[in-house]
Amino acid sequence: MKITIIGTGYVGLVAGACFADAGNQVLCLDLDAAKVAQLNAGGIPIYEPGLEAVVRRNREAGRLAFSTDVAASVAHGELQLIAVGTPPDEDGSADLQHVLAAARAIGRHMDGYRVVVDKSTVPVGTADKVRAAIAEELARRGVQHPFSVVSNPEFLKEGAAVEDFMRPDRIVIGADDARASELLRSLYAPFQRNHERILLMSVRSAELTKYAANAMLATRISFMNELANLAERLGADIEEVRKGIGSDPRIGFDFLYAGAGYGGSCFPKDVKALLRTGDEAGRPLALLGAVEQVNEAQKHVLGTKIKAYFGAGLAGKRIALWGLAFKANTDDMREASSRALIADLLAGNAARRGELVPLLMDYHFVEPVPVAAAYPAGRHRMAKVRAFIDFLVERFSGQPWSQLEAKAEDRHASASTAD
Ligand code: NAD
Repeated sequence: MKITIIGTGYVGLVAGACFADAGNQVLCLDLDAAKVAQLNAGGIPIYEPGLEAVVRRNREAGRLAFSTDVAASVAHGELQLIAVGTPPDEDGSADLQHVLAAARAIGRHMDGYRVVVDKSTVPVGTADKVRAAIAEELARRGVQHPFSVVSNPEFLKEGAAVEDFMRPDRIVIGADDARASELLRSLYAPFQRNHERILLMSVRSAELTKYAANAMLATRISFMNELANLAERLGADIEEVRKGIGSDPRIGFDFLYAGAGYGGSCFPKDVKALLRTGDEAGRPLALLGAVEQVNEAQKHVLGTKIKAYFGAGLAGKRIALWGLAFKANTDDMREASSRALIADLLAGNAARRGELVPLLMDYHFVEPVPVAAAYPAGRHRMAKVRAFIDFLVERFSGQPWSQLEAKAEDRHASASTAD
């Protein structure tokens, strides 16, 4: 099948590469010209185990290509999968501007039947908005082409994205018409040879299912974090408690770990968006509100402990943080709990702002060391780390990164040689 993926990020790139691996002709569109150039040059903009090899073999086989050409991308695939970002808006709701821009681009250029697949995580009712945006563009052009809008939320986990995509535990398809659902069924056929994994449902149920899944997982994390804090106060060990409850099959062992709070590009924004949906629908989600509150507090538990331990001695301490990404096996720093911890440490250091730069420099060079060995394209990760440092520097010292960059590059050069 010929398919187009709109948005070549964590989801779009993994989906595109895996669909190509199943024998499809895949064109991945992105507006980020630098990202597309990097991919066309054989680079990979993100770290995800196994992804590089899948992308390489399918590019080499001519089944996977990357482009910034919107018209050519809409012309390419009968299936148009939208996998652009849906970041939180100011009020917590999902910002649909990228999804609707992609829908309008499809409407502006389509020249025949298209199945538009919402793969991004989007609130209930988004498929209707996508449908309206496409219809509006077609009307503006004075043309009529048939199209379907389908919801096919993605459940892959960063850090195991290729594995999850190749062997999904379920494939949720929300479709209201048979022609579209049959196309999706053929698309996913190679991913469910072992047994039926497709759950066909209404579009709205599919949209809600994705949020419900992430909200449930976030709830387990906050539950365990709250219990861990109580266990500490009571002299119990949360690890022992975890084993004690996980052995009950109704509870299970997965996703029961206490820690520094959930982060990442999905849980925080999806919890916020679902809370917003509940408010807007006149059915506020009290339990989920508490999940978010507990998580926000949890991100500061470690910082508070460190401050309590060192007291005034924290000022000027050189601290190395290991494991900055929001979880293992990814380079994704979005909403990582380490950000809150670093911010707390820097705030604790506020009286000695002069120490800020050395601290950041050390942080900058501690992190890539284990990465460089496992991940040769470490430069990209450096850019991400730098963007994060930029944020910190701006927030805590007002010093622009440009003043620090030359020095950082020097140190990076010597650190790389040392590897
Ligand atoms: P991302 O930020 O990594 O990638 C989004 C890409 O879309 C970017 O490269 C951006 O340049 C591109 N883009 C934006 N507007 C575009 C447009 N109009 N045309 C073409 N390209 C455009 O995002 P992501 O992490 O891949 O997430 C994408 C969606 O999938 C989100 O809704 C997210 O909630 C959902 N999701 C993410 C994960 C995950 O683990 N990251 C898992 C499941 C679902």
